[in-house]
Amino acid sequence: MPRFGLFPAAFGHSSGFNEDRDDRGSKLKPFEYVAPGTADEAVAILTKNGLNARIIAGGTDYLVELKHSSSVPKVVVDVSKLSELKGIDLTEQGLRIGSAVTHSEIMASPLVAEHALAMQEAALTVGAVQTRNLGTLGGNLVTCVPSLDSGPVLVALDAAVTLAGPKGRRTMPLTEFFVGPRKTALESGELLVEILIPKERLGRGCSFRKFGLRKGQALALVNAAASLDLDKGKLTDVRIALGAVAPTVIRAVTAEKLLNGKAPSEDLFAEAADIAVSEAKPINDFRASADYRRDLIRAGTKRVLAEALTRAEGKS
Ligand SMILES: Cc1cc2nc3c(=O)[nH]c(=O)nc-3n(C[C@H](O)[C@H](O)[C@H](O)COP(=O)(O)OP(=O)(O)OC[C@H]3O[C@@H](n4cnc5c(N)ncnc54)[C@H](O)[C@@H]3O)c2cc1C
Repeated sequence: MPRFGLFPAAFGHSSGFNEDRDDRGSKLKPFEYVAPGTADEAVAILTKNGLNARIIAGGTDYLVELKHSSSVPKVVVDVSKLSELKGIDLTEQGLRIGSAVTHSEIMASPLVAEHALAMQEAALTVGAVQTRNLGTLGGNLVTCVPSLDSGPVLVALDAAVTLAGPKGRRTMPLTEFFVGPRKTALESGELLVEILIPKERLGRGCSFRKFGLRKGQALALVNAAASLDLDKGKLTDVRIALGAVAPTVIRAVTAEKLLNGKAPSEDLFAEAADIAVSEAKPINDFRASADYRRDLIRAGTKRVLAEALTRAEGKS
């Protein structure tokens, strides 16, 4: 049975939210809160209410958006406790991570540490402890800002996402799920159920680096991830993913082509990093200039390639 209520009373800390004003004087307006018991129930509520319904998981992005929004949805559907959206498991297909798994749970998972260590490196860079305790992997991917920190590693590891909707379930590569800034392939009535890193990509050399204005509580100016393997001393299956340098996470495919089949070397990685710079479209904004971001792409690409190589060689 779904739980209903009027937010924030249903979360049990009404006075805190009602009185919480930000510097622009806006405050959270009341809305109907529903906590369905299953993913199918959530889909039914979303489908019935169409544009009048919104999903909430950890709320670290959405509550901020809601406070500043002039319109309030009729109903907010809380998916954070749905058991189908929780858990990290090793399956025959690969490493499955429920969309409602938090960044802190990723950091604490022995399975992620063993099979996809770079995901923990990325989770560690998200906000601060409180944000990581509430914020979910699914919420991060659906918000889909260009600087999202879980995107590059998952793209480098060729992850796929499964969505549940009124027409059933569908799975697609994460690269197709990311459509543009704050825009994903989710359709009306759909929710993100899980993320799968295919088994062929597990345990291989993979690394993540984020560059911000500070070490913590800072959005990425550039973030980068690489995954690769070695076959008889030659690089294979190289994937380089870059964030905050284009409308959404991109792969540096020309740089990847240069690397595949070659023996790794510092000079080769430097050449690949220069190519990666030319594949990105960084912007000037109040945080950094496009030129500075190009320098970070160059440095970041070299570093993630070198670290991924060390891990592929089993040295780390
Ligand atoms: C102080 C602060 C610091 C932050 N720092 C960083 C940072 O360093 N790096 C970074 O990448 N992000 C950062 N964020 C952003 C945010 O914390 C993350 O994106 C987080 O992972 C969002 O998850 P959530 O569960 O809180 O999403 P919510 O806020 O609950 O939801 C976000 C969006 O996703 C949708 N959604 C959520 N779950 C699902 C689902 N299963 N299916 C379909 N739609 C869904 C919601 O409708 C909403 O549109 C920060 C946020 C704050 C407030």
